[in-house]
Amino acid sequence: MSEVAFIALGANLGDRPANLAAARAALSMVAGVELLAASSVEETIPLGSLVQAPYLNQMLAVATTLDPLMLLARLQRIERQLGRVRTQRWSARTIDLDIVRFGERSVQSPALVLPHPGLPHRDFWQREVEELEQLLEAAA
Ligand code: AMP
Repeated sequence: MSEVAFIALGANLGDRPANLAAARAALSMVAGVELLAASSVEETIPLGSLVQAPYLNQMLAVATTLDPLMLLARLQRIERQLGRVRTQRWSARTIDLDIVRFGERSVQSPALVLPHPGLPHRDFWQREVEELEQLLEAAA
C-alpha cells in the first residue's frame, strides 16, 4: 500500500537551485518513492539567531511504499550524499530534507516526529502544503 508523504527541501549554500534539483533527482531514484508534485520554490530568511544565508525552500509530494523510518533513512542518505559542497575540505551542508507529513500518521519517537513539529510555526511550509494539496486534487 502506498501513502502520500510531504517532504520539505531547504538549501542555503552553494548553487541552491542546483542543490534542490539534485535532491529531487536523488529522491526520484529511490525504490518505493514516486514523485507526485512539486511546490513552487520560495526564498526565506533562516530561523533562529545564527547568521546564515537565505534558504531556498520547496516541498514535494511523493507516493511511497516505504514506512516513515525507512523514508527518513533514505532522506538522510541523500543529505549525506548531496549535503556537502566540494571545497578543499568537504565542509558545509547544502541540503536539508524533512518529512512534514506522512499520510495521516502521528509519530512521536526520538528519531521521528510526525507531523513535523515545525509545521505550525512555518508559514512557508503551510503555503507549500496547501499548494501541493491543490495540485494533487487537480491531478486526481
Ligand atoms: P535537522 O537536520 O536539523 O532537520 O534535524 C534532523 C534530525 O531530526 C534527525 O536526527 C531526525 O531523526 C530528526 N527528526 C525528527 N522528526 C523528523 C522529521 N519529521 N523529518 C526529518 N527529521 C526528523
